[in-house]
Amino acid sequence: MIPTEKVYSDDDRSYNQKTVSQRIEALFLNNIGKVVTREQIIRAATDPTTGKEPENWHQRLSELRTDKGYTILSWRDWKALAPQEYILPHSERRATAAKRVLPTPACWAKVLTRAGNQCEWTEDGQRCGLASGEIDPIGGGTVKLTPDHMVPHSIDPAADPGDPSRWQALCGRHQVMKKNYWDSSSGKINVLGILQAVNETQKREALAFLLRYYGYEIK
Ligand SMILES: [Zn+2]
Repeated sequence: MIPTEKVYSDDDRSYNQKTVSQRIEALFLNNIGKVVTREQIIRAATDPTTGKEPENWHQRLSELRTDKGYTILSWRDWKALAPQEYILPHSERRATAAKRVLPTPACWAKVLTRAGNQCEWTEDGQRCGLASGEIDPIGGGTVKLTPDHMVPHSIDPAADPGDPSRWQALCGRHQVMKKNYWDSSSGKINVLGILQAVNETQKREALAFLLRYYGYEIK
């Protein structure tokens, strides 16, 4: 799964595909097995007619993983990579990348009203609360709220497109967080995904916990 050597792409092209996501996808597919950098991604993702740099390229990159099922490695997955370096080791896509079911427009309007047009992600009793159109102070970019079905579709195939109680409004950052850390095929927390995403210190803490748990001495 992880390449044996680190080869940099020398791709300095701009790309003409219609959307930011398609341009980034084309860059990776043209450079399978090679390291592409943040600069190359931004160059490829830049709008070919307006020259406008995309502010949300990082989210589009995450969606290539979560929605389209590509394996795109970062420094979190492969130690040889530096931050802001990425690699698509092969073009196979996971079949689990499910197509999205959406709420009806009337249902989504009710969800947004309930949410007060703010992200409803709650962690440790604290609501995210970012409002549509605000700048996300952590992730950057303009907040756009999108619907999230609270129970994974594969577990609950009747997706309740008309029932507002089954949907929540999430900002882009929390959509990505939920998709990355929640395995919708099993309905379980994606522990390995979390371990891949956390920093070195947190990885060591997890390792120490497991060693203790299994009765090994730690020095
Ligand atoms: Zn949020």
